[in-house]
Amino acid sequence: MKLTVLYRGPLSGCNYGCEYCPFGKWKQSEEELTKDRADLERFLQWVESRTQDTVSVFFTPWGEALIWPWYQQALARLTHLPHVERAAVQTNLSCRLDWLTECRTEKLGIWATYHPEWMKRSRFLAQCERLSEHGVRHSAGMVGFRRFADEAEALRRELPEDTYLWINAVKDGLDAYTPEDVERFTRIDPLFPVNNTRHPSRGRACRGGESVLSVDGDGTAYRCHFIKEPLGNLYAPDFDAALKPRPCSKDTCGCHIGYVHLEYLELDRVFGSGLLERVPTTRLWSGGLQRSASRSSQS
Ligand code: SF4
Ligand code: SF4
Repeated sequence: MKLTVLYRGPLSGCNYGCEYCPFGKWKQSEEELTKDRADLERFLQWVESRTQDTVSVFFTPWGEALIWPWYQQALARLTHLPHVERAAVQTNLSCRLDWLTECRTEKLGIWATYHPEWMKRSRFLAQCERLSEHGVRHSAGMVGFRRFADEAEALRRELPEDTYLWINAVKDGLDAYTPEDVERFTRIDPLFPVNNTRHPSRGRACRGGESVLSVDGDGTAYRCHFIKEPLGNLYAPDFDAALKPRPCSKDTCGCHIGYVHLEYLELDRVFGSGLLERVPTTRLWSGGLQRSASRSSQS
């Protein structure tokens, strides 16, 4: 069986303090961090036990995980498992990167979000460069607030041409876009219109709940992060019986980590093996469609 697990443990703190984020500058107690670490260990042991399957893992924490050594070690450990295809993580990329030397970096994927209010552009670029030096496939991205548009253009100019820069559309009405804004962000990220859409999903086939799962620290499994109807507990001996095709029960799906699994969108063809860390297989920016096969494993 081929399985992708989006893991989100109890961690919910971050070293940055983005004003729009509930986890900003939130410090967790030693007790909470100890539980997060223990839950992660249990999850890793479960992955280690699934030798009959091909497993990909995507850490999508509330807050920032890579400032904690147990997430760095978890990624390293996962990349060394023969039955693990990819181990990916969403991060603000503020952490040290010396742990990369312990990874099989060809299996590692990094979804790096640049927060210009908390990190200098030069530092973010240097961190991306370091990822490239280690052969880590990664995407870079920003939240598409209109006030960040200049900075996003500057980042696009300074990133290597073959690094994909995504822009996450602000869809909750906080920052209503004009057609010019949409055009501007689309020049930076040709896939911006895809992200700026709430895709109709009710009754549609989605891999969530069949070959893709969202799992919390206690092992409670959901089809995705957006439908909070438990499918069962990952650690229960009969859990696999819960995996089956299920049409989506929500009207729309508007987040990359969800809609990429909606089958009719066929975004697996756009992202290929870079689906989790959001790296398209085809270079879509800087002059249109160009195959980037020679760099498909290096962003
Ligand atoms: S870096 Fe991410 S998790 Fe941290 S405060 Fe900003 S948005 Fe929230
Ligand atoms: S379409 Fe989105 S909301 Fe619906 S099941 Fe898939 S990931 Fe979840």
